[in-house]
Amino acid sequence: MEHLLEIIYLIASLTFIIGLKRLGNPQTARRGNSIAAIGMGIAIAGTLLIYKPGHSGPVDPMIYVLILIAITIGTITGWITAKKVKMTAMPELVSMFNGMGGACAALIGLIEFPHNSGDPQSVAFIVAGMVIGSVSFSGSMIAWAKLNGTMNKAIRLPRYNILNTAIMAAIIFAAIYLVVAKVQDPVFLYILFGAAILYGILFVIPIGGADMPVVISLLNSFTGLAAAFGGFLYGNMVMLTGGILVGSAGTILTLAMCKAMNRPLKNVIFGAFGETAEGGSEITGSIKEMSVTDAAVLMNYSRSVVIVPGYGLAVAQAQHVIHELEQLLESKGVQVKYAVHPVAGRMPGHMNVLLAESNVDYDKLVEMDDINPEFKNTDVVLVVGANDVVNPAAHNDPSSPIFGMPILDVELAKHVIVNKRSMKPGYAGIENELFFHDNTSMLFGDAKAALTKLVSELKGL
Ligand code: NDP
Repeated sequence: MEHLLEIIYLIASLTFIIGLKRLGNPQTARRGNSIAAIGMGIAIAGTLLIYKPGHSGPVDPMIYVLILIAITIGTITGWITAKKVKMTAMPELVSMFNGMGGACAALIGLIEFPHNSGDPQSVAFIVAGMVIGSVSFSGSMIAWAKLNGTMNKAIRLPRYNILNTAIMAAIIFAAIYLVVAKVQDPVFLYILFGAAILYGILFVIPIGGADMPVVISLLNSFTGLAAAFGGFLYGNMVMLTGGILVGSAGTILTLAMCKAMNRPLKNVIFGAFGETAEGGSEITGSIKEMSVTDAAVLMNYSRSVVIVPGYGLAVAQAQHVIHELEQLLESKGVQVKYAVHPVAGRMPGHMNVLLAESNVDYDKLVEMDDINPEFKNTDVVLVVGANDVVNPAAHNDPSSPIFGMPILDVELAKHVIVNKRSMKPGYAGIENELFFHDNTSMLFGDAKAALTKLVSELKGL
C-alpha cells in the first residue's frame, strides 16, 4: 500500500510538471491547469485513503469528517470566487490564494513543533516553513488589501529599511537559536510566528499598491519554498515537488517582471519602490484628435496594422470586438498583428489570456523583441488602452520613473492611433509624449464602444 501511495505521488508530481509546461502557451494553458488540478486531486485522495500516520492506534473518524468539511468549504469558496472574479481583479485573487498557502505552511509548523521538538533536523524544516509561510501570509493579505483599494497609501515608517532589516535579522537569529539550542517550549515558536507575521506586514506596507503584482509573485515563491519545507518534514515527495515548482516558477516570474519593468530586485526586497507617480519632464505641445470615420479610412487603405493591447482593453472587455476588427481588416487584405509587451495589463500574460479568450490566433501575437524592428515598416499602429508600454520617455527621458524600461517602439510607425478615454496617465502615473507626436492621433472613448463604431464604419467602406 505504501508503494501505491508513492506511485500516486509520482503521478501527481508529473502532472504538476506537465501542467506547468503547458501553462507556457495560451493554447495549452487551460488543459495544463486542469491536468495539474487533477494531479492535486489524486494526491489528496491518495493521502486520505492510503496514508497511515506514524503513531500507532486507529485514527479518530472525526478527523476524516473534519477534513471533508474543510475540503468542501475550501472547494466551494475557491470555485465560486474563481468563477466570479473579473480578469482585472485576478492579481487580487492570486494574492488571497497565495496567502492561504502561506497560512497552511505556517499552521503545519505550529502544529508539528510539539511532536518534533527533540529532532533538530525536523525543527529546522518546521521553523523555516513556519517563518516563510507566515511572512507570505501576512504580506499577501496586505497586498490583497492594497489591490482592492482598502489600503491605498504606501506607509513608510521612519527608517523603515533599517527597521525591516533588523527584524529580519532578529528572526533569522532566533530561528537558528531555536534549532541549535533544541528549545522545547512552544512559546518561543509562537513569538517567532508573531515576529514573522509582523515582518510580512512591514515588508509590504511601504510598497505602492501599483507594484503589488511583483510583490505577489515574490511572495508566491516564498509560499512554494514554505510548502517544500513541509515536504522535507513529512518526506512527502508531492509536497516537495509542488513546493519547489511554485518556488522556482515564482522566482523566475519575479525576475522576469523586474526586468520588463526595469526595476532591480533589491529595490523590491527592501521596499524602496512604488512611488512611480513622480518625476519625468513636463511635456508641452498639442494633441490631434481623430474621428472614428477617419481612423476607419486610414486603416482600410493600409497594408499593415499592428494592434497594441493594454490594460484599458481588459477594463473595457473589448477583446471580442478587437478580434472582429482584426478579421475584418484581414478580409480587406490588410496584414494584422498584435504587439504584446511583457507587462502590458496588470499581471504577466494578461494580454495573452485576454486575447486567447476571444480566439485570436496565437501566431498573430508577436513579442516585443520580435515586433520592434517591424514598426518602421508598419502603416498604422492602433494602441488600445495601453499607455506606459508605449511611452518613449523610457528611451529618452532620464528623469522619467520608467526610464530604461523596454517599450514597444510604436512611434516609428507611419501613423499611430491611440484609443483611451482621456489624457489621464496609466499605471506609472506619468504623461506620455507619444500622444503629442506629429504622427499620433487620439481616438478618445471607451475601447469597446470606440472599436464597435470602428468595426461598423469599416463594414461600410
Ligand atoms: P497603463 O496602465 O499604462 O495604461 C492603461 C490605459 O488604459 C490608461 O492610460 C487608461 O487611460 C486606459 N483605459 C482605462 N480604461 C479604459 C477603457 N475602458 N477604454 C479605453 N482605455 C482605457 O497600461 P499598459 O498596459 O500600457 O501598461 C501596464 C502597466 O502596468 C505598466 O506600467 C507595467 O509596468 C504595470 N504593471 C504590469 C504588470 C504585469 O505583470 N502586466 C505587473 C505590475 C505592473 P484613460 O483613463 O484615459 O482611459
